[in-house]
Formats: sequence, C-alpha cells, structure tokens
Amino acid sequence: AGFDELGLPEELVAALRRRGIESPFPIQAATLPDALAGRDVLGRGQTGSGKTLAFGLPMLTRLAGERSRPLRPRGLVLVPTRELAMQVCDSLAPLARSLGLTVSAVVGGTSFPKQVAALRRGVDLLVATPGRLNDHARQGTCVLSEVTITALDEADHMADLGFLPDVRAALDLVAPDGQRLLFSATLDGDVDVLVKQYMTDPVTHSV
Ligand code: AMP
Repeated sequence: AGFDELGLPEELVAALRRRGIESPFPIQAATLPDALAGRDVLGRGQTGSGKTLAFGLPMLTRLAGERSRPLRPRGLVLVPTRELAMQVCDSLAPLARSLGLTVSAVVGGTSFPKQVAALRRGVDLLVATPGRLNDHARQGTCVLSEVTITALDEADHMADLGFLPDVRAALDLVAPDGQRLLFSATLDGDVDVLVKQYMTDPVTHSV
C-alpha cells in the first residue's frame, strides 16, 4: 500500500514523492492508521526505522485539517538532543510547507531571543528539547495550551538523560484531551510510568 491509501492529504503525498518516499516503512504502515484515527500510539522502534514520519505525518495531517489556526503551536515534538531536533525539523519542514504549515525548533545552546522571535511570528509544529521548552514556558514566551497533538521521540533516551521532570512539566501544559504519540526503543521502567500517567488507551506497535 502507498501513502495515498492511508488518507494523507494529496499535497503531502506529492511532497513525499518528490523526496523519493513512495511507500511506508513497516513502523509507518503499523502506526499511521491508528495515529490518523486519533488514537494514542506507542511505537517501539530503533533509530533509522522511519519513526520521524511515523509521528510527523499524522501530526501534519491533523494540523492541516484543523479549522482554527492560532499562531501558537498546535503540535509539539519532544526529543532528547539538539541534533535530533534539527534532524526532525529538516525532515518535516518541507512536508509542512506543502500544507502551508510552519515548523520551528526550540533547543538549548542556541539563541533564546531568536527562538522568541520565531514563536512570535507563529509556529504550527514545534520541535523542542525539554529543558529549553520549559524555560520558554516559564517565561511566558511559549504557550502550550493550544497543543492538540504531542509526540515524544526516543522517550527512553530522554529518561536516561534525566529529562522526565521537564517532559512531565510540558505534558502538564498541553491540552489535556490532546492526542499523544510515543516512540522509544524500550517501553519499560520510567517510560512505562510516563505512558500510564499521560496516555489514554494507547495502542502499541513493535517493529
Ligand atoms: P528515521 O528513522 O525517521 O530517522 O528515518 C531514517 C531514514 O529513512 C531517513 O533518512 C528518512 O528520510 C528515510 N525514510 C523514512 N521513511 C521512509 C520511507 N517510507 N521510504 C523511504 N525512505 C524513508
């Protein structure tokens, strides 16, 4: 089956095709139908399996379909490192553009004022590391209450790095009835606690 049969917007399928991406990888084929149906999804998969699109495509599809478009972020991706944030941004930005949506990163170690300026201009999908995101939330430069879909990428890695308090703080600020997607190499220990606390009737897919 191709991406067109999964119910993605035409413009998005065309933008994928322009990048040589024609048919879903297994983790995408497994998770996309549930994520597009609005369910909370747990995906167990390694780096390189295609998880960026597994959470990115349903997020962009949902945001493109929302009628009200506040300037505040409506989609949030939390990642453990600045490097991963940049990779996710680079993968999703051209796809977002095809739908008239914007993507921006909020990460540590780079200019805070530049991030504030980008947030002021308006961001649809925000890709963030947890610490810097909460600096913005505390200072009131990023409001998360309009976020209706959140993805946690490499949740086990965020736990290992001690970021779970900041992850929790962010999840406490997003819309409480929003959709959540979580990807991780392992789903036990601290990640399992997070899942039990923040995800509603999640469907698990292991690839
Ligand atoms: P990820 O695991 O998300 O970092 O993706 C690993 C690599 O696979 C990236 O270079 C993606 O652009 C590429 N990729 C992801 N999904 C597909 C797909 N369905 N078809 C072809 N390439 C893909």
